[in-house]
Amino acid sequence: MQEKFIVSVDMGGTKILASVLNSKKGIIARQKKPTDIDSGTKVYVKDIAELVHKVVKTSKLDEKNIVAVCLGVPGSVNPQTGVIGIAPNLGIKNYKMKAELEKLIPYPVLLENDVNLGALGIKNYGVGKDATNMLAVFVGTGIGGGVVIDKKMYRGFNFVAGEIGHMLVQKNGPKCGCGKKGCFEALASRTAIVNNIINDVKKLKKKSVLSDLIKSNERIKSGALRNAIDKKDKVVTIRITEACEVIGDVLASVCNLMNFDMIVLGGGVIEALGDFMLPIIKQQFNNQVFTAAAKGVKIVPSKLADDAAIYGGLALAEEFLDIKV
Ligand SMILES: [Zn+2]
Repeated sequence: MQEKFIVSVDMGGTKILASVLNSKKGIIARQKKPTDIDSGTKVYVKDIAELVHKVVKTSKLDEKNIVAVCLGVPGSVNPQTGVIGIAPNLGIKNYKMKAELEKLIPYPVLLENDVNLGALGIKNYGVGKDATNMLAVFVGTGIGGGVVIDKKMYRGFNFVAGEIGHMLVQKNGPKCGCGKKGCFEALASRTAIVNNIINDVKKLKKKSVLSDLIKSNERIKSGALRNAIDKKDKVVTIRITEACEVIGDVLASVCNLMNFDMIVLGGGVIEALGDFMLPIIKQQFNNQVFTAAAKGVKIVPSKLADDAAIYGGLALAEEFLDIKV
């Protein structure tokens, strides 16, 4: 019997990543291409198709070995119809992605929101393997979440479940990218942490090892925050600790509602700073959670990093095509 593989495609805002994989051998080939959205959706879809062909060629597999192409979309998706509702960073709205891409490649196309796909990867191929009811939270530029109930992805009525980043935390708080005020991600994402640090340095004239970076208006990434924590920078330590406390509070609230048995934390900020952040998050979680809901709950870091969503494609193929890859 022929060995089966899928192609997982990450439709990122800056680059498209395509990987060939199966559960036995893991990822056997990768290819990437810069995202070009200025030329329109038609060109963008053609780019994806070309990258799929290229990565299959790189893998040296036969077309027949590939049983599905799974797309991780940074936006709202109906995985049953293959229609993208809205993907703001890609300029895509109400688009029949599955139908259009299937005209260009000889494989069935599946779609899922990229955060949900990350949660699916963690659930099926990462630290969440033994979890029954699991929440995955990704802290990066924003904050995304994926909910697994009874070992299955919970997508909600309009397929937008898991938007934990837009739960209200502080009435009339800082403005969020979604247009509202005081959302979780407006208080605890990297964007929020960095904005607070910049404010401390520029307006309040506090000293930080990041002062030079801030004065030259350079983008502050997770690695720079890590460096500042290692140097015991006061401003950065305070701001990250605050964010951890907010994260702990929100996880406690959500756990009170859902009684998850596992909460997995991922994303760029956690990858860079997990060892510093997790103890504070757990402490705050324990302070805030309804005691009975906290019993035995595991709060753990994801170990799959960016590969979580790639592996999620395998679970998607199993769910929608009923094939074990
Ligand atoms: Zn928001």
